[in-house]
Amino acid sequence: MKGYVDKDVCVGCGMCVGVCPDAFRMGEDGFAEGWQELAADVVDDARQAAEDCPVGAIDVK
Ligand code: SF4
Repeated sequence: MKGYVDKDVCVGCGMCVGVCPDAFRMGEDGFAEGWQELAADVVDDARQAAEDCPVGAIDVK
């Protein structure tokens, strides 16, 4: 599984990086991105970030 960010929707607030840095990081463009396959023990945090994203830009699959 991996986190995916729709950069056309992301507003660069950084919340997801704070909630789950193992799944998300800020790109040089100022928007978040999923950056690695998720270990089983971080999937719940990644899903929480997806739920909490203020603009619904995250998918975890
Ligand atoms: S929480 Fe959503 S809007 Fe904020 S940086 Fe992450 S993907 Fe972008």
